[in-house]
Parts: sequence; C-alpha cells; structure tokens
Amino acid sequence: MESLAAVFREVGKPLSIERVTLNPPEPSEVLVRIAAVGLCRTDYHVMRGERRVAMRPMVLGHEAAGVVEHIGAAVKGITPGDHVILTFIPACGICRWCRQGLHHLCAEGPRITQGPQLDGTFRRRDRAGADVGAFCMIGAFAERTVVDQASVVVIDQDIPLDLASLVACGVPAGVGAARHRARVKPGDSVLVVGCGGDGMNVVQGAQLCGATMIVAADIVPAKLDWARGFGATHGISVQGEALTRAVLELTDGVGVNHAFVCINPPATLLPAFRATTKGGNVVVTALTPDTVTAIKIPPLELFVTQKAIMGAVYGFASPRLQIPELLALYRKGDLKLRELITRTYPLDDIEQGYADLEAGKNLRGVVVFDR
Ligand SMILES: [Zn+2]
Ligand SMILES: [Zn+2]
Repeated sequence: MESLAAVFREVGKPLSIERVTLNPPEPSEVLVRIAAVGLCRTDYHVMRGERRVAMRPMVLGHEAAGVVEHIGAAVKGITPGDHVILTFIPACGICRWCRQGLHHLCAEGPRITQGPQLDGTFRRRDRAGADVGAFCMIGAFAERTVVDQASVVVIDQDIPLDLASLVACGVPAGVGAARHRARVKPGDSVLVVGCGGDGMNVVQGAQLCGATMIVAADIVPAKLDWARGFGATHGISVQGEALTRAVLELTDGVGVNHAFVCINPPATLLPAFRATTKGGNVVVTALTPDTVTAIKIPPLELFVTQKAIMGAVYGFASPRLQIPELLALYRKGDLKLRELITRTYPLDDIEQGYADLEAGKNLRGVVVFDR
C-alpha cells in the first residue's frame, strides 16, 4: 500500500511530503493508521543535523497514537481496531533490562536511529525504489506505519487519540523525570529550566509529587504564564549566572532540592547545577547535539557539594508501566493533556509546525490526520 509521509532527505531542508510504498506487516508486526503525532524537538534536532541518524531517506516522527488495522500472524495481545500508543524505544522482552521491567533501557534502544525495523529489514520504499528508514522504528510522520509489536502499547478507547499521542514521549519524559528519576517528595523544591514539551511535564510531575516550590525558568515569558497553569509557583526569565542567582535568592541561598535541565544542556547544566542544594539532584531530560562532546562541571565542586547529576530518557521508567498510569491520572483529572496542545497541523504544514516550535509559540504542536 501507499502512505503519505514526511521524509527526511537533506539536513537543513524541509521534510519532503511524498507517497512511500509501505509493505504489509511481518509476523511480529502491526499496521497502524496514525491519528496524531506530536512535533517533538528531537525530530527537529535530526532535521538540523544535530542528532545524527544512520541513513536517509527516513520518515521521522516518534510521538504518536493511532488505530491498529492489521496484525502479523505471531502478534499477541493486539487486535485490529485497538487504539495504541507507539513507544520510541522498543521492548524486546528478552534483554537483561526488559526482563527486569526496565524497558526504557532495552538493549535495542541504541538502534532507534539506524532506520530499519526491529528485525533489521525495511518496510518502506520511495518512488525510486530506495529503502526508506523509520526513525525510532516508528516513522510516524505518515498516514500509516508498520511497527514491531515491541513498539506498541494498547490503550483504552475513551482517551482521545490527539491527547494520547503526547503520552508517547513528552508527558512520560517530563512527569517520569520528576517521579521516577529525581523522586521528588512532598515539600521539596524544584527548578525546571526550559518549559517546553518535556519541561512543562516536569512542572506538572513535580506538582503531582507534592513539591511546594516549583520554579519555572524560560527565556520566553509566555511559557512562564503557561507554567503557572501546570503548577509552577515562581517564574524567572533569566539564564546563565543570573539564573543561579535568582534561584538562590528564592531559596534563602540554599538552592533547590531538584533541578531539571530540559533545554540546551551545554548552556544550562552548570547554572542549574549551581542552583541546586548540597546533596541535591540534577536531572538532564534534554538532548545535546552530537557535535558537543563535553560540558564543564568543576570536579571539586561536584565532590564537595555531593550532588547527583543524572540522565533520564522516557522518564526513567518503562513506558509500558507509565502509559496506563498516566492515562488513569488524566481520567481522574490529575494530569493535564488538552492544555499541552497549542495548535494542530495537517501533515502538509509540518514545516510551519516546526517554525512555530522554533519561535517559541508552541507548547506542543500536533499533526492530526482528518478522516
Ligand atoms: Zn520526543
Ligand atoms: Zn529489551
């Protein structure tokens, strides 16, 4: 079959909207009609060459929800008509991490920028007959995709699919970083640097955990207003040393219990580290361009202040465990999803969506497919 897709062909150029040939699912795979896919900054890093992928052409898009149309003969627990969220790290089920339920650390994770399916072969071809990769083994900037069952989480059908798409990446990445990585406790103080898709979800995750001071930092003032709606108690529009000073002022010179670096770690990690209290946590949820290979943290300062610097992908917990929990919190009214979507776009306008992201206009833009 054919599927309209946004294909990454050249670094720094607009994605190419074209029809690709999509082969039917192999025995362990499913065919999914995409309903909605979020415009996450990670795809944008790929488009700009800041996050290298192993091949082009490649269909990008990894924050998606849709409806299963066909399943391979060996697929278990998924049936046509199921509503699903696609996970950008597969869960092979048999590696040492998957066996412990740590699917966010799956041994197959490092292969998600390679292009082929989980089994190493391709399902997409372009007009010229060339293999087309699928970013994160998903390739969701497309009407339809074929993915391994290891990338699929079935969800309840009462959840609107545009909202569900956000629970594929930004929501678990942010909420999970607060809940599962930093393990924010009631009464803790939190700093969130960069209040975009991940950061805003750290804000609401910190609130869910009972943090009493949540300082949002962003150079776009509008995002500070949005952050208050998600639970931020303070907003600061400063960076660098001024950011550190502002946070120390708010905390009687002590610093916050937990700082989250949700944008541009090369510029924000050290100021956030210095705004953190002794023995506190600094959690990095944001991607750094491949070209930046080191960030300076004075080692003596790290040693004497006894702080922890840690990474968090997928909120440092299995998406298979987090997704049902997060949807339950949404249903109960404790998790905001609708409020995260600033604007929706048809696939044809995906470039406008990324221009709006770059201009700081969107908390989240989402490509939706009207049918
Ligand atoms: Zn993402
Ligand atoms: Zn695994």
